[in-house]
Amino acid sequence: MANQTGTIVQQSLNALLGDSSFLSDLQGKHRDQAFLSLAAILSTPNKVNKAFLRITMDDGDVVRIPAYRIQHNDTLGPYKGGIRFHESVNEEEVTNLAALMTLKNALHDVPFGGGKGGVGINPRHYSAKELYIICKKYVQYFTDILGPEKDIPAPDMGTGEREMDWMMAEYKNIHPGKPYLGSFTGKSVINGGSLGRREATGKGVYFTFRYMLHDFIKVHRGYLTNSSNPFAANVLAQAEKPLSIAVQGFGNVGSIVALEAHKCTYLNNKVVAVSDRNVTLYNADGLSIPALIDYANRHQGDLPKTKEELAELELKADIFEREEVLYLDVDVLVLAALEEQVREDNVDKVKAKIIVEGANAPITGEADQKLSDNGVIIIPDILANAGGVIVSYFEWLQGRETQYLTEEQVHRMLFEKMQSTLGSILPSFFSATFTLRQNCYNHSVMKLSTVLYRQGKLY
Ligand code: GLU
Repeated sequence: MANQTGTIVQQSLNALLGDSSFLSDLQGKHRDQAFLSLAAILSTPNKVNKAFLRITMDDGDVVRIPAYRIQHNDTLGPYKGGIRFHESVNEEEVTNLAALMTLKNALHDVPFGGGKGGVGINPRHYSAKELYIICKKYVQYFTDILGPEKDIPAPDMGTGEREMDWMMAEYKNIHPGKPYLGSFTGKSVINGGSLGRREATGKGVYFTFRYMLHDFIKVHRGYLTNSSNPFAANVLAQAEKPLSIAVQGFGNVGSIVALEAHKCTYLNNKVVAVSDRNVTLYNADGLSIPALIDYANRHQGDLPKTKEELAELELKADIFEREEVLYLDVDVLVLAALEEQVREDNVDKVKAKIIVEGANAPITGEADQKLSDNGVIIIPDILANAGGVIVSYFEWLQGRETQYLTEEQVHRMLFEKMQSTLGSILPSFFSATFTLRQNCYNHSVMKLSTVLYRQGKLY
């Protein structure tokens, strides 16, 4: 894993190595050996599963499409993570995303390991029937490695309830008489999915931001004022005033984050910009997010992109290029689109003082370093966007018990879980000098290392 994730995992391991109380019953070379094993285990996936799906298209053409299921680590439970349909999908990307799932689940004490799937297509270029065949074939090719106790996929970019329903149906066909409700999460509610799963990632992202910038500070203000952490002053400065927020991406995550921020009127924060694959919309007085969501629902997820379309909605906004959302002079930038949006070549143009990662890995390692050196607070993906997998876990539990929770119960349990993680991360963040990302990784790596050691796997 020669990337940012690998580097940070290595730094976490180095910190553990320097802590003499960790693995203290191992001495000298045995302890060194255990750390080499840890580094090897965490930096490589357990299993790389790859196939070319053969699909007959509607026009009779036959194509072969690359598909992956990477199983990174199952120390804490069955592999768990989404399946993404995107044309840029490749083995390295899916492997990195699978490693992030291992760290995310460990951070939030979700009893799952980490995995990720991908299919190299642009789903917009395929008919519903072709997508249905792709989903069926995906399950057929990988059927032996999937299952409620083995590896449980969920939606990711380019997939949703419809694809999970199709996939679970195929799983059920292939394994008659076996439990199947827990084989996929993110299904439609009528088909055994959980209420509140669709909004869970976006709600969790906003909750994390609000808790860190407002609720936590209300109680711990004195503690932050005395903090030696260079980020603490920035947090305090931002927490004093109403914030302007820009959201990149208006899909399942971005639109919900924008809506939650819009509805949270008591904080006086304003969503001043949103963007999608076509445009950035900007209004310094704030945008009407419910009207934009309504528009996007009626236009295949797209925001209005012309003056006429905006006028039809009676909405005032400037229309900028889609990239511009990243460079606006705002307090908070929420990245809820693709990975690698903020890179070495554009990081200097970013003005936000707080960046929230709704997407997975939207900032490259070099850019992350530069932003952090400038005191920008980055609320990392594995902390902020875990709402999806947390509610996937609730869905998996509900499927086992065939007892279903209300939407209110689901979201209450989601916030409790995220608050509990934040409660153990934030005090150490504000008393150390690491970035929040490094802090989260330290927590996950410590947990994984301890369990691996207890399981006798470090010899
Ligand atoms: N794809 C989501 C993620 O990246 C959800 C995964 C899941 O629910 O298993 O966290």
